Amino acid sequence: MAATLFSDIQYLKGVGQARGEKYRKLGINSPYELIYHIPRAYLDFRAHVPVAQAVLNDYNVLKLTILKKLPPQRIKGGLVICKAAASDGIDDILIVIYNNVYYFQALKEGGTYYMYGKVNGNFLRKEISSPVYIKAEEKVLIQPVYHLTQGLSVTMVRNNMRQALDMMHREPFETLPDEILRRYELCPLMDALENIHFPQSDMAAEIARRRLAFDELLKLQLGMSMMKTRSRRSTAYKMDSSISVAPFVEGLPFELTDDQKKAVSEIVADLCKDVPMNRLLQGDVGSGKTAAAAAACYFAAKNGTQSALMAPTEILASQHYRTLSEFLEPFGVRVSLLTGSLTAKKKAALREQIAAGETDVVVGTHAIIQKDVEYRDLALVITDEQHRFGVAQRAALAEKGDSPHKLVMSATPIPRTLALIIYGDLDISAITQLPKGRKPVKTYAVTGKLRSRAFGFVRDRLNEGRQAYVVCPMIEESESDLFAVKTYAENAAKNDLKGYVTALLHGKMKAAEKDKVMKKFRDGEIQVLICTTVVEVGVDVPNAAVMVIENAERFGLSQLHQLRGRVGRGQYESSCILITDNTSDECVKRMKIMSSTSDGFKISEEDLKMRGPGDFFGSAQHGLPPLKIADIACNMELMNKAQNCARELLAADPELDSRENRALKMDVMRLFNKDIIG
Ligand code: ADP
Ligand code: MG
Repeated sequence: MAATLFSDIQYLKGVGQARGEKYRKLGINSPYELIYHIPRAYLDFRAHVPVAQAVLNDYNVLKLTILKKLPPQRIKGGLVICKAAASDGIDDILIVIYNNVYYFQALKEGGTYYMYGKVNGNFLRKEISSPVYIKAEEKVLIQPVYHLTQGLSVTMVRNNMRQALDMMHREPFETLPDEILRRYELCPLMDALENIHFPQSDMAAEIARRRLAFDELLKLQLGMSMMKTRSRRSTAYKMDSSISVAPFVEGLPFELTDDQKKAVSEIVADLCKDVPMNRLLQGDVGSGKTAAAAAACYFAAKNGTQSALMAPTEILASQHYRTLSEFLEPFGVRVSLLTGSLTAKKKAALREQIAAGETDVVVGTHAIIQKDVEYRDLALVITDEQHRFGVAQRAALAEKGDSPHKLVMSATPIPRTLALIIYGDLDISAITQLPKGRKPVKTYAVTGKLRSRAFGFVRDRLNEGRQAYVVCPMIEESESDLFAVKTYAENAAKNDLKGYVTALLHGKMKAAEKDKVMKKFRDGEIQVLICTTVVEVGVDVPNAAVMVIENAERFGLSQLHQLRGRVGRGQYESSCILITDNTSDECVKRMKIMSSTSDGFKISEEDLKMRGPGDFFGSAQHGLPPLKIADIACNMELMNKAQNCARELLAADPELDSRENRALKMDVMRLFNKDIIG
């Protein structure tokens, strides 16, 4: 049987078993998947220079004719060196190829080639070592460069790619209806796939990239939207709308903001439907998402059901446990904490209580939804700091119990256009205002020269009874000049912070140790926490009023914003001091934005403008299926177009079952895990 695009890669002409193995290592199992192995760059042989103009100790493209091949030299260690004299018609140069006799043999005396390689030597004698070359007669002067694995050379991949593309052209296919191609000005898929690998011009590569990036964004959007529809199976936990959350809301030590109230009523309304809730609660750090989540737990408990609240770290889990107990226990709602650091005996006892329905709210890390934890009536699952949980986990959750309601909370506010893609499977509630009386954190960006003055300020605040964080990018000293918490803490204890109680917190510490430090910090026994970004997520110590960030250039806008959100959580005026000696435009701009606004939605909008949406996809933070092209090639305009297109397609054909959409649906299923969509 002849190989097809979907046969095992090893049956592609010229591949075979051994090389097939290498491809599988790269996640390429079929010629089709090979075609979607997108070049990471191109080698442009059009840009050749005369030998005399080659930049020494750097890579150059030369056009050379082989004058004389010298016999290969064997030297010790089995190494073979092959050399040939060559000329560009004016100057001579030596070609040196190490350990690749076959590659050398293919060069013919008298033949002319484009060669790309590192040029060494001096004014008089030059050599180009281990060049990549193509014949001068070759028509394709822009050659793709791929991510490779040991044993696969770029030439092999190019040759196999050529085979796969030829096979593809014999059985052409298209995933998008003509009408869409026309309206969104996209090139046909066959042209895109040909030209992404072997473009005749920069323009051709660009057009190909646009089409493929559009495809990816479209598939992503379609998949997310379809997941949303899928998870609308009925839930066993339609709650009773005549039960009121008012007693809880009125019992809180503060009045909920309007946004919080709106979020609570949206959540309660969802819980009273017979399809499971699937909602994202977006809100800046400190906007009070936890109170809204607690209201949901209260409502679920008063409906006689259980809730689970998952946090990404144990620190956060224990913090949530404390907050929820405080809010809920007065109403007879029983809250428990299930974490890895409990003894086996306690864990077992707690598991029994959960199964017997003797506790109403279970707080912990994602261990609490594992198979070995059985609930009597799990109706509501809340995940905090959503961006740490991926799409797959979101989908796995849907399988738990009798389709529980799901609420995910994210403190990384993102613009709506982006949210629609990343959280396309969720409804969105947003808390955009901070609680009343909250003072914005004063933010200053300074250079290292002002460090000791900055610490003078820190000491003043400590003397007033406040606490502070100092964040450094590294744990241990390394080759780089970046600050590391360990040495930083030692120095600070001797100098700037002499006489103050400081402590270290970083990701390599044991969970129990971290908890101990956090507890002491919360209790005010530690004045300054010198830490890495482990404090980034959700830590809440209202008395902490100063945040110092060293090497601020190392952190993106969103991360800086997250870190800053650790202060300004109580009634005290708070400050954030960003220290950096970096003067690049990009860094200066980031520091300016940080100093001028504290609105998380605005900051993420700026972040999006500066970095483009690719970074959001590329960071893997959101747990989306990995994108191959869109993460580097897409822009907002393309993203909006893909979004509109998805909306139109689904409006006309919600399950993409019509004949002309079937290929697209297959593609969507391929991008996502099949079980999620299929
Ligand atoms: P986040 O949205 O970052 O999870 P939290 O829920 O931790 O924010 O709330 C931050 C702090 O603000 C907590 O100490 C919380 O008790 C308090 N808080 C929440 N809502 C209000 C409100 N409406 N008024 C005053 N304080 C509030
Ligand atoms: Mg929080």
